[in-house]
Amino acid sequence: MMQPLVDNHGRRLNYLRLAVTDRCNLRCRYCMPAKGIASMRRDEILSWEEAYRLCRIFVELGVEKIRITGGEPFVRKGLLPFLMELSRLPGRPEIDITTNGTLLADHLDALKHIGVRRLNISLDSLNAQTFYAITRRRNFENILQAVNKADTLGFKVKINVVVITGINDHEIPDFVRLTRDRSWTVRFIEPMPFDGAGGQYKSLLTGDDILARLESKFDVEPVSNGKLAVAKLYRVPGYQGCIGIIYGYSRRFCGACSRLRLSTRGELLTCLYGNPVLDLGALLRSGKGDVTIKRAIRGAVDKRLSDGFEAERSLQRSTFNSMVAIGG
Ligand code: SAM
Ligand code: SF4
Repeated sequence: MMQPLVDNHGRRLNYLRLAVTDRCNLRCRYCMPAKGIASMRRDEILSWEEAYRLCRIFVELGVEKIRITGGEPFVRKGLLPFLMELSRLPGRPEIDITTNGTLLADHLDALKHIGVRRLNISLDSLNAQTFYAITRRRNFENILQAVNKADTLGFKVKINVVVITGINDHEIPDFVRLTRDRSWTVRFIEPMPFDGAGGQYKSLLTGDDILARLESKFDVEPVSNGKLAVAKLYRVPGYQGCIGIIYGYSRRFCGACSRLRLSTRGELLTCLYGNPVLDLGALLRSGKGDVTIKRAIRGAVDKRLSDGFEAERSLQRSTFNSMVAIGG
């Protein structure tokens, strides 16, 4: 029996986030500049076979949940057959997806068949014009259609809302009202300094500011969701769904962080705020076997920094200034 992955601070690592592409059909202002972001060459990013092999290795090391992210996962051809393969891995990891929802509606039946149950859908506004102001694209209706269809088909839906002062923060109550008759979780995310253009969105509105806004309008009560959860959860009594706050910039959850990230090129990150700690893509391509790769992963995990502040301080120069290659 293989020992599970535990870092040098005693944190069990059982959750892998895999960025399958750095391309996207939106240009969210907190994530990408309007123009001029260079996409990676196709041969730079992990092939589906390489991504599968690394996922298999991580599952053999005790990873129980794999989240597919990007960029926008659904812009890459071959995603669904890949998900089907992942779902058949021995150990049957939970397969989740984070998506902007624009291309989702047509794939929902197939996802259900594959066994995907949970979808995190990013939707920063309930107003078409504000949506355009944030994403610089006009696919708003497609997302609403996808969210509603996902709900009807029985997926567990979480809506991710990055809250930006002066742009969508006035919609916080509207998003809370969405949870009255639907069992969705709406999660408000603190902006983080990964906008592909110098990090200007960092920390304009903290999670505590968001909570104060909630409390000024609603009688919210905390909901317990386990100490490993990344969102602090609340509920308006009588409402079906929940409201979450993700303290991504304040970094409140590092002490219980169970996440590993694989970039589109196959670099391993043990913290969102740090640089890659291991180039697994290069190890694969140089012909290394599973035993060597597993040993390298354990070695990297054994040197994990204690939290996102230490990881940020350790940077000489940041490899990633946008979430597109590391998946958020
Ligand atoms: N394209 C998909 C989407 O938007 O859901 C998946 C990739 S996206 C990078 C993953 C998550 O990161 C999304 O919920 C997005 O809102 C969030 N994100 C991206 N840039 C961010 C930033 N600078 N601060 C906070 N969250 C960010
Ligand atoms: Fe694309 Fe997601 Fe980034 Fe928006 S947050 S630009 S949808 S990758």
